Amino acid sequence: AVRVRFAPSPTGNLHVGGARTALFNYLFAKSTGGKFILRVEDTDLERSTRQSEEAMIRDLKWLGLDWDEGPDAGGEFGPYRQSERNEIYQQYVEKLLKSGNVYRCFCSDEELEAMREEAKAKNLPPRYMGKWASASDADVESELSKGTPFTYRFRVPQEGSITINDLIRGEVSWSQDTLGDFVVLRSNGQPVYNFCVAVDDATMNITHVIRAEEHLPNTLRQALIYKALGFKMPQFGHVSLILAPDRSKLSKRHGATSVGQFQEMGYLPAAMVNYLALLGWNDGSEEEIFTVKQLIEKFSIDRITKSAAIFDLAKLGWVNGQHLRALPIEDVSKMFGEQWMRAGLITESEGPFVTGGVALLQNGTDILSDSTQSLLDLLSYPLHSTLASEQAKEFVNDNLSEVAQAVLAAYDSGDLQAAVDGGHDTWQKWVKSVGKALKRKGKKLFMPIRILLTGRMQGPDIGSTLALLKEGESSGIVTAHAA
Ligand code: GLU
Repeated sequence: AVRVRFAPSPTGNLHVGGARTALFNYLFAKSTGGKFILRVEDTDLERSTRQSEEAMIRDLKWLGLDWDEGPDAGGEFGPYRQSERNEIYQQYVEKLLKSGNVYRCFCSDEELEAMREEAKAKNLPPRYMGKWASASDADVESELSKGTPFTYRFRVPQEGSITINDLIRGEVSWSQDTLGDFVVLRSNGQPVYNFCVAVDDATMNITHVIRAEEHLPNTLRQALIYKALGFKMPQFGHVSLILAPDRSKLSKRHGATSVGQFQEMGYLPAAMVNYLALLGWNDGSEEEIFTVKQLIEKFSIDRITKSAAIFDLAKLGWVNGQHLRALPIEDVSKMFGEQWMRAGLITESEGPFVTGGVALLQNGTDILSDSTQSLLDLLSYPLHSTLASEQAKEFVNDNLSEVAQAVLAAYDSGDLQAAVDGGHDTWQKWVKSVGKALKRKGKKLFMPIRILLTGRMQGPDIGSTLALLKEGESSGIVTAHAA
């Protein structure tokens, strides 16, 4: 049975890259009836914090990516925090010591530094060239009895190569002579990262390691450890990077990159999951909107692309809008109402004003938090920069004055007020009568009126907006701040 893991290092927030790795593992497990495991890789004691672990767990849960085994969920292969697995690592170091795959190295820092300098002078890669790889038992015993500090080094066979058949990248090979004997356990008893990963994946019976491309170079060391311990190698799949639109590495300077930030900005978890799935995966069709259930049905590793994915905020917004509009109107009303209330625009989060506003605004609003500005726009109708656009100028030059005369005349006669006060149908009737008198219809009639009254070239239906404003006025729900 499939067993996959997401193995974050709790040294910060959950970023979109990590979330996508978690999602691919989750979808693979769910689509194969396998298990999804959360393992916390906190070997770097200085940079790892419990706070970061908790935040990551919170963000993963918000996305709905539940795991079957993990530090909080338990499971028969625990503990699921590397910092709690020291005994296991010690045990496997002993095993490798017995089989001769690791040896004790008593080199001092100065000696190691000298070796590095020597390699540098000869233009060789820095590599352990010390005597302890082949020291006699007597020499080892003598240092042990003196209490000299030592590390455990992995003996890398200098002949042969390691080849993996990566599920995404295809065949990848490393010649073993590119690697020197590396430390697996430090002199203070701290195990080294790659050793922990290999031992954990092996002892947790992980069948598929799906992770970011940046970990590909680690695979050589991990595979050597696997081999030395006699474990069956998992299958590897290294997922390509996520880049910013300028094709540089996605980073803070490109804006929000952590899952928590997107949550705060009002994105829906279902939309986030949908969009993350599209970063390097497709179902082979043009379809881009999926529920989690559909993703589980359709997911397959062979459809993960090898090329880098581009993180496109506009597309995420679009996906979010699709999910937002697929929700029942009551749910959207609840969300918008609470959002407007939080923003101090209204005094009650429900009622006819809210449902009316949602009906008008939900099509033009992709992200919940944007609904605040949408409502403000609608309530204030300020003269915007609209008139600067070429398109607007065209309307103004060709159409505005004639229509403006008619609107002004209606203002003077009170017809305009009556039309505004009369509600939706009365308004429509009045607009029609203006059109009839001027022999205008369609855009040539509606657009000049819209520009005249709202200062904008687009927005919800004016009759409905007037009705909503009236509702806001009579119910007293709109705050002074908003109006
Ligand atoms: N702990 C690593 C990270 O946070 C993941 C290592 C792995 O998946 O093998 O990037």
